[in-house]
Amino acid sequence: MVALVDVRRLTPRTDAVLADSRLAAAERSLGRSIVLAAVRHAQDRARSGEIEPDEVADAAFDGLPPLAASLTPVINATGVLLHTNLGRAPLSAAARAAVQAAAGCTDLEFDLASGLRGRRGRGMLAALAAAVPTAQAVHVVNNNAAALVLAATALAAGREIIISRGELIEIGDGFRLPELIESTGAKIREVGTTNRTSAADYTAAIGPQTAFILKVHPSNYRIEGFTSSASVAELAGLSVPVIGDIGSGLLRPHPLLPDEPDATSWLGAGAALVTASGDKLLGGPQAGLLLGRSELIIALARHPLARALRVDKLTVAALEATLAGPRPPVAEALATDPRQLEQRVRTLAESLADASIDARPQDSSAAVGGGGAPGLNLASAAVSLPAELAEPLRAGQPVRRGTMPAVVGRLEDGRLLLDLRAVDPADDELLQAAVIAAAG
Ligand SMILES: *Cc1c(COP(=O)(O)O)cnc(C)c1O
Repeated sequence: MVALVDVRRLTPRTDAVLADSRLAAAERSLGRSIVLAAVRHAQDRARSGEIEPDEVADAAFDGLPPLAASLTPVINATGVLLHTNLGRAPLSAAARAAVQAAAGCTDLEFDLASGLRGRRGRGMLAALAAAVPTAQAVHVVNNNAAALVLAATALAAGREIIISRGELIEIGDGFRLPELIESTGAKIREVGTTNRTSAADYTAAIGPQTAFILKVHPSNYRIEGFTSSASVAELAGLSVPVIGDIGSGLLRPHPLLPDEPDATSWLGAGAALVTASGDKLLGGPQAGLLLGRSELIIALARHPLARALRVDKLTVAALEATLAGPRPPVAEALATDPRQLEQRVRTLAESLADASIDARPQDSSAAVGGGGAPGLNLASAAVSLPAELAEPLRAGQPVRRGTMPAVVGRLEDGRLLLDLRAVDPADDELLQAAVIAAAG
């Protein structure tokens, strides 16, 4: 004889589960639909016999996400400083505090002293102008792609933009610069070859239809061997404006990145306009920086499209704090002495070994990442762990509950490496706790 129990009838009703005091509190902090989804999931588990009917409230509570948004904090132990999949540059503490302060109502377009309307983002624009004194004027949009679209639309719709065949890049995820530019109605006039383009190639292509020359820094690949390209200084001597896309957002030359262009140098060499990203080597929020001649910046800022590309108050706050505040984490990570990294790795490996985890120090090599400096290896150090820890570190119960950040490392030769180059030293103890929690 088989006793048939109708588990559906035993599964507690939704309103009964929602009356649980922990779930009622969660409804206030997370909202009803998130709590309801967790309750329904727990009820389904009870109906399928996976849990007992009287465990539904506990299971629903355990299944709640920590925040109303699903983005999870991650410790970037990949050794890639600017990881596009991990949100590129982490913000400095100063920028995070500025974002927090601006999150409510704020004087974004209001002058508190006079009580009158104020210029949107004036503090941010002043900080950017101060950081690059050679720029006559500056403007900020949502990202570098938006900066290029705005420049092409406002200055070259229906006309031609001259670009070297060696600079027709794909910026990632299938997005190609030539297609992006042609979507504005501007035509691309390709010159030179993949590996070699001279100033004479550009000169021969200039005509009545030419709006400007676009010089693009190949930020995510390198062409080596029999190569040549025309410099900004050579092109600036021709009869049309030169717009330079430097990519990474370095505002001044960086001693460790001699091949990476910067806004000050390209403007100094005669570029009429420079565009760059805010969340690569500049170390700030996603943004597109435009710097250069006043009349061009004014034409862009007043174009109707500028309204569709303008940055929000959180970006305004984060970018100003990045420019005016202390050195952002990306710059700190770049400047870190490898011996310091080795010391941190030894300390971490020893504490983990004390917790009976198979952890060993190992030399490593880090990179700037998709955001710039292709081919540059940065000496680094990593803790080597059993590969089985990768999954719980990324998505274990403590991560899902929000009590630990996720940790993303890289797998190499059957081991999980946690490279400390991109990890804030202030997070070392948290990283240690996360590994112990994942192993336990
Ligand atoms: C990254 C990059 C872009 C795209 O910048 P976003 O800020 O991601 O829109 C464009 N051009 C170059 C040279 C880049 O390196």
